[in-house]
Amino acid sequence: MTMGVDGRSVIVTGAGSGIGRAAALAFAAQGDRVLVADLDAEGAAATVEEIERSGGTAVAVTGDLSEQAVVDRVTATAVERFGGVDVLVNNAGIMDSMSAAADVADAEWDRVIRVNLTAPFLLTRAVLPHMLAAGRGAIVNTASEAALRGSAAGAAYTASKHGVVGLTKSLAVMYRKNGVRANAVCPGGTATAIAVEADPAAHGPAALGPHFVNLGRVSQPDEQAAAILFLASEAAGNINGAILPVDDGWSAV
Ligand code: NAD
Repeated sequence: MTMGVDGRSVIVTGAGSGIGRAAALAFAAQGDRVLVADLDAEGAAATVEEIERSGGTAVAVTGDLSEQAVVDRVTATAVERFGGVDVLVNNAGIMDSMSAAADVADAEWDRVIRVNLTAPFLLTRAVLPHMLAAGRGAIVNTASEAALRGSAAGAAYTASKHGVVGLTKSLAVMYRKNGVRANAVCPGGTATAIAVEADPAAHGPAALGPHFVNLGRVSQPDEQAAAILFLASEAAGNINGAILPVDDGWSAV
């Protein structure tokens, strides 16, 4: 299957670690130029170094993507360095404390919604004029198993990831006439830094129900990256608004 290798301009958020890093490396390996956006400057630099060591092209922009100024810097850098934005992967995210609603403080709610939902909206809004001007674009959002049901995380994370699915579907419908597609992956348990924090033993699966412990085989970041690359590729040209679980059947339980 051809994945549409054409040296595109790709922004991957949260590319300093985990799923985002795996996706950035995979895009670069097929010849795309990658803007690595992350709060963590060291992680972002390490991803860029790894890409450059393999002969690829990448640039890092560091900062908190929930801030408009950082979003503007990411967009401007992609346009200046790579001539536009062909692919946007809204992947950066944070876990919550896995608390039920009554135990969620304002600060936790605001931060989780801001990083997981508002930041993807801000970057999408900033990038869309460039995709619309080009008449093409692919947006892939990293949602979660917690976007599909209520028993995979706490109230704030679950609400934020359901919101990511809503944003994805709205984009798919509103921009399909403009050549811009939007899809989402819903990772199940994946071996990254975030997953360690969400250790079910530490957070009490009894409170979250039997579904939480039925997660199947934990996936590797490059398995999530493969799904992201597919949805961003020409091979997925008629796939728009899809919400794709990548979870060894966890969501089928
Ligand atoms: P990770 O912690 O390894 O990577 C997340 C990256 O996002 C980090 O490099 C972090 O610095 C960056 N980030 C966090 N907040 C940011 C901000 N405000 N601005 C810029 N960068 C920020 O975790 P991961 O598992 O690779 O997570 C990637 C995505 O996958 C997240 O959206 C997460 O919710 C989702 N996800 C992960 C799992 C899992 O089990 N690992 C399951 C479902 C969904």
